[in-house]
Amino acid sequence: MAPSALPSCHIPNFVLRIEDLNHQGAAIFLNNFHRDILLSAVEASYTWLYTPLTAPTHVEKITLVLRSFEGVAYTFGSDTDKEIHLSLDYVVSAVSRARDEITGVLVHEVVHCYQYNAKDTCPAGFIEGIADFVRLNAGYAPPHWEVSGGDRWDAGYSTTAYFLDWVEKRCGKGSVRKLNAYMKDQTYDPHIFVTVTGDTVDTLWCLYCEHLERQ
Ligand SMILES: [Zn+2]
Repeated sequence: MAPSALPSCHIPNFVLRIEDLNHQGAAIFLNNFHRDILLSAVEASYTWLYTPLTAPTHVEKITLVLRSFEGVAYTFGSDTDKEIHLSLDYVVSAVSRARDEITGVLVHEVVHCYQYNAKDTCPAGFIEGIADFVRLNAGYAPPHWEVSGGDRWDAGYSTTAYFLDWVEKRCGKGSVRKLNAYMKDQTYDPHIFVTVTGDTVDTLWCLYCEHLERQ
């Protein structure tokens, strides 16, 4: 979507830093990366978590750092300045589908720059689930993701993302956006699920697991 289609989308300054140009992952990254990937990640965050009335404007700069480390990626920073670290080793490991994987990981990390976290009290799995919910809806679910039930709705990542996607379809478009909104100024309270959907999250999880079993 073009930026003009989302007038409330506040585009930050993007900075790119590659700490080891000799690393094999640097060449793969440069062959597959474009600034528009970050732009579309910001737009996906706005599209799935905000309305024009609630769109945040606090993020002024996102610095993307490519370096060698174990793991995939992580994000940290202040309200205004965010830093995303993406592993060059991971880029090498994902070479067969580098562009989609880099894009998907960056959508996930950019969501962390914009989502609310109930003043740092939101369950970590819920945070990760929302990031992957946006990644899923942006069209970058990787092939290894599986729809799964299990003990916990907040197991995180794709497990929680597919659950939230089901909640969104069952309870109405904007449900995840509303859950995010309730975590702006208040500490985490599981009752937000009742407020938004009419059911507790445990009830929703049971219904979801039953739904999966029927499939
Ligand atoms: Zn994450």
